[in-house]
Amino acid sequence: MLDINKIRADFPILNRKVNGHPLVYFDNAATSQKPRQVIDKITEYYTQYNANIHRGVHALSQEATDLFEEAREKVRAFFNIPETKQTLFTSGNTHSINAVASGAHVFVKEGDEVIVSAVEHHSNIVPWQMLCERVGATLKVIPVLDNGELDMDAFAKILNSKTAFVVVNHISNALGVQNPIEEIIEKAHEHKALVLIDGAQSCGHMKVDVLALDADFYTMAGHKMCGPTGIGILYGKEELLDRLPPYQGGGEMIDQVTFEHTTYAGLPHKFEAGTPNIAGGIALGAAVDYLESVGMENIAAYEDELLKYGTQKIKEIDGAVIYGDVDKKAAVISFNVGNIHPYDLGTIVDKLGIAVRTGHHCAQPVMDRYQIPGTIRASFAFYNTKEEIDVMVQALQRAVIMLS
Ligand SMILES: *Cc1c(COP(=O)(O)O)cnc(C)c1O
Repeated sequence: MLDINKIRADFPILNRKVNGHPLVYFDNAATSQKPRQVIDKITEYYTQYNANIHRGVHALSQEATDLFEEAREKVRAFFNIPETKQTLFTSGNTHSINAVASGAHVFVKEGDEVIVSAVEHHSNIVPWQMLCERVGATLKVIPVLDNGELDMDAFAKILNSKTAFVVVNHISNALGVQNPIEEIIEKAHEHKALVLIDGAQSCGHMKVDVLALDADFYTMAGHKMCGPTGIGILYGKEELLDRLPPYQGGGEMIDQVTFEHTTYAGLPHKFEAGTPNIAGGIALGAAVDYLESVGMENIAAYEDELLKYGTQKIKEIDGAVIYGDVDKKAAVISFNVGNIHPYDLGTIVDKLGIAVRTGHHCAQPVMDRYQIPGTIRASFAFYNTKEEIDVMVQALQRAVIMLS
């Protein structure tokens, strides 16, 4: 089992006070906190081997290149990506999705259909809408049931020979519900459709094996898995990445440049134009090391314990309604209490040092589905504790009395 006190000691920010109270950080679905090992790696890069990579013959450039490529290799192994060249560094999950959607006219033609789910983050809706407008394709939506699960019967009906792409998140950031992506991938492939899985909420919370999943593309956010902001990952099947045109032109992504014609570099560099986030990539390698030292199975099991405990405690609040209260979910609890506006509750608990998210969580269609303006979202990580959940629930109880 996890030594939570030892783990908490690795996260400097957990020592700080907010509004005079010890910080209780329950906004992990928006971004995770960073252990000292990751923060130190960033400092180490800038103090010891800051240089541009892949081009210099000098020592610093080679050291930085080696460490950046070593980090890529760590990320590759962590997600069981077959080849290093299929492990692309981007600036974040949103960039990863856009890198695919912007070139997806080679996969999606006029009259085709693209299927998204009703529980997507805006960043996995808008790029596909833009693609559909560009090529003359139609966007279709898998509806969500009252309990927060996708309506798989409806999905089976929407799928047809015109379906070119299916895009869905592994875990919904708004509800925490884990979607049946294995089944979605299998059904989509039966119809010769490609599948992109948005893994922003899964990457730091469960073991993800992209090879076993058989997704065509899978995207991750470094900052949601204990890494820094400004670094993301895109995995794709090699033949598809070969066919996908580059998202940006520039240095690093070329083979030969003349004014008549330019040939592109091979993978992964074709998708990595310009100077990348070198410090971010190297620090993401340190985040992967850290997560592996704790163990993804341990993390998933402990976070599930927090989820069960938190769910039970929140249900004890008079008038509390949880959205997406199903068995298969991540440690994300999205809820409201009576008719109290989530923003009002969030503001009061913030005064007591508790960071929860309030609002639509970049998933307005989900809120429309439940006809609510938003929710309060408490999202846990492996450095949180049951005691912190008790502190939050007590604060919520107090706030409810003040606001009713
Ligand atoms: C956070 C998140 C995104 C957006 O990721 P960025 O880090 O903002 O680029 C997309 N989808 C889901 C499910 C998310 O949780």
